[in-house]
Amino acid sequence: MKQFIFPFTAIVGQEQMKLSLVLNAIDPKIGGVLVKGERGTAKSTAARALADLLPSQAVISGCKFGCSPDDPVHACDECKELFSKQELSVSYRKTPFINLPVSSTEDRIVGTLDFEKALTDGKKHFEPGLLAQVNRGILYVDEVNLLEDHIVDTLLDAAAMGVNHIEREGISFTHPARFIMIGTMNPEEGDLRPQLLDRFAHSVTISGVPDAEERVQIIQRSIAFEDDPEKFCTQFEEKQQNLAEKISEAQKNLPKVAYSEKDLYAIAELTSAFHTEGHRADIVILKTARALAAFENRFFITDEDIKRSAELTLPHRIISGHGTDDNVSVDEIGKKAAQILAEKPKSSANTKDDSITDESTDKKKLTN
Ligand SMILES: [Zn+2]
Repeated sequence: MKQFIFPFTAIVGQEQMKLSLVLNAIDPKIGGVLVKGERGTAKSTAARALADLLPSQAVISGCKFGCSPDDPVHACDECKELFSKQELSVSYRKTPFINLPVSSTEDRIVGTLDFEKALTDGKKHFEPGLLAQVNRGILYVDEVNLLEDHIVDTLLDAAAMGVNHIEREGISFTHPARFIMIGTMNPEEGDLRPQLLDRFAHSVTISGVPDAEERVQIIQRSIAFEDDPEKFCTQFEEKQQNLAEKISEAQKNLPKVAYSEKDLYAIAELTSAFHTEGHRADIVILKTARALAAFENRFFITDEDIKRSAELTLPHRIISGHGTDDNVSVDEIGKKAAQILAEKPKSSANTKDDSITDESTDKKKLTN
């Protein structure tokens, strides 16, 4: 029996969360999102819906890590060998979605190396864990604040490096583990250490929807889905397809989105005005702004892109006294960001249009 997933495009409201998810799908290197909110606010629904929305993936048949036939650089050792022998066979799969149970042990997550077997036949025997399964997919970690710190560290290390590295009793093994990490937490149940907070690229707070009309829509859609999921999904098919195509198109165009030194100064002015620690926020804002431009069919980033990216990137990074300040709302960040961007001194910024990009490109709007 086919399992129907509530369509991403049928989720009412929660625009910040949906935007962050879409942008992370366009560029998984942005670095994931932390979703703060009470229970029962459609957090896992949205994460699962995103995985379901994404197009199916080509994988090298038989690979435990789902390596891509188009990406020899990030392939596992076995697939690298297949690439060199040109012996690839390709199959397709859905974008993996793993819902990490809070009770997961480190072995279950990173996998295990069989030391005994290695001793007898001299070969490495690796039993894959969840990080193998989730390569090129979405890892959903509910209640991330309730996980043990060393487990969160392991997950965030893998997410940042794009690989899972295991070392046991002198043997080691490395495999690709590139994934989008979506963590959720209920702030009433304890906070994450600031060092860990900073490693989530974005943070969004979701709350109940105050608008009566939207609330009604939520009830109607959830009942309609429950009654006849197939019919409900059919109604959203076109919207789903349009969004999926827009995301694929943006993924293709992302490397062509240019930015100028002026944009970098604007970002630096902003993060400095908000007293964020370190430089991670600057880089995340830039990546987010580029994904946003690609999503909106542009080859260049605007101040508005930077402002909207700051609204996703800064909420958990604004330091006031001790730790982060949850009282700074997205609205306040947006307003202050708009003001700073409008006032930014032209003298310190290099105003000539020296676009920087991975590939040379015209600073023009895409025409398709
Ligand atoms: Zn492989």
